[in-house]
Amino acid sequence: MCLICDRIEMIKNGTNPYFVKELETGYVVIGDNQHFYGYSLFLYKNHDYTELFQLDMDERIRFLKEMSIVAEATARAFKPEKMNYELLGMGDAHLHWHLYPRNKGDIGNYGHNGVGPVWCLPMEKIYADECRPSPEELETMKHRLLTELEQLLNQ
Ligand SMILES: [Zn+2]
Repeated sequence: MCLICDRIEMIKNGTNPYFVKELETGYVVIGDNQHFYGYSLFLYKNHDYTELFQLDMDERIRFLKEMSIVAEATARAFKPEKMNYELLGMGDAHLHWHLYPRNKGDIGNYGHNGVGPVWCLPMEKIYADECRPSPEELETMKHRLLTELEQLLNQ
């Protein structure tokens, strides 16, 4: 079983509370845990490929273009100092972008004196229950991200 496919199935069933918007190549969702406030993901629509370079060039460019629009909308909605973009896949090979809004000090003293990728922070801190948004916070975040996304998509 694939966690990303499960989440996409929930979007299709209307039962995924994190779902923000469907684009041509993927689905925009807010992250379950919000240590990095505004953390969002862009999930590729199907599980047929595990590497960007397996997509034909037109599809690859569409996917990358849409991801960059989602990142821009995330930055506008949550106003970080910097965006981080990550496509990993050792846990879930299904193509999905982690879009992390970053601010100085957000990994404490981890990394090299507080400088480094999000993964310098221990997993139990990134995925801590106290970083889960309340239903009200989640609604507010989804609304902010959707508003920015729609403005960018309608330009
Ligand atoms: Zn999958």
